[in-house]
Amino acid sequence: MTLVIGLTGGIASGKTTVANIFHQEFGIEIVDADIVARQVVEPGSDGLQQIAQHFGTEVIQSDGALNRAKLREIIFADPTHKEWLNNLLHPMIRHKMLNDLENVRSEYALLVIPLMVENNLQTLADKVIVVDVDPETQIQRTVKRDHVDIEQAKAILASQATREQRLAIADYVIKNNTKNQKLLYQITELHKKFLEICRVNL
Ligand code: ATP
Repeated sequence: MTLVIGLTGGIASGKTTVANIFHQEFGIEIVDADIVARQVVEPGSDGLQQIAQHFGTEVIQSDGALNRAKLREIIFADPTHKEWLNNLLHPMIRHKMLNDLENVRSEYALLVIPLMVENNLQTLADKVIVVDVDPETQIQRTVKRDHVDIEQAKAILASQATREQRLAIADYVIKNNTKNQKLLYQITELHKKFLEICRVNL
């Protein structure tokens, strides 16, 4: 079994930035929960078919893709719809992530799960890295990247696990606070550690 390193962090903490460095510098293959979550409802998928059967074809766009805005509207109006959807999709996402991890050929795999704490998915990883930034930086980066206002950014932060809850599941922490944080250095040190774990477990 490939060593699975989980990677999480709050909104705009730098997960994608960090994962890209692991991939570009060291060839580590990534399984990304957000990408998998889109794949299980892509046109022609079993997931999309079941959603259409349950909510009606109004949740399907004319191009065959999921109408996310419509679906959001439906589940926002009624929590039982949200529960139904989560009960359908969460096992599918989990199953596909495990399947994708089995196909990883790099020394270890990086499993990126933004809502790892919220969905209790740290159990899928052997070790967990948390990308940590202070909330003010998160808000600034969210505002800049997503063109939302400060209040919206704060609301998103408030809906996620707290910094403390995330740090509580961390085996390793990458600090990504300032512009000049030595991200590559921190990642290189972790990469060496992970290779050592792989070597010991051979
Ligand atoms: P999300 O889960 O919200 O998609 P994320 O955790 O994957 O976000 P990134 O997309 O990697 O975070 O980074 C968020 C934003 O902050 C991006 O615009 C990125 O360019 C910027 N950013 C990341 N790290 C730094 C840094 N050290 N200095 C300055 N900007 C940074």
